[in-house]
Amino acid sequence: MANRKRDFRRKTARTLVNRHDMVFHGALNIIGFARPRTVNGLLDAGWASFLGILPLRAANAGRKVAGLDPKYPSQDCSQCGRRQKVKIGHAYVCASCGNDGHRDVNAAPS
Ligand SMILES: [Zn+2]
Repeated sequence: MANRKRDFRRKTARTLVNRHDMVFHGALNIIGFARPRTVNGLLDAGWASFLGILPLRAANAGRKVAGLDPKYPSQDCSQCGRRQKVKIGHAYVCASCGNDGHRDVNAAPS
């Protein structure tokens, strides 16, 4: 089972690196998620291991990997930087500059 998981992480990292010039991920505090009932599934997924493999695969292929600050990415306007709360499933419409679109698109790095 451990070999299958390790193989999955390596293949997933390889697939991401082959398909994209740059890969962004949330700079997650994996241990910070350690709470009863969720820790087993999260740690079992091997996120820390995966995030260790991904930069190595990217460097070998000449690609880049960057961790993004997980604080407020979906609340900060990508155009003017204004912070406002947006409910999940709602479009992002900035009250300051009028920037509008999907909440996740607004949060994505440009
Ligand atoms: Zn704005």
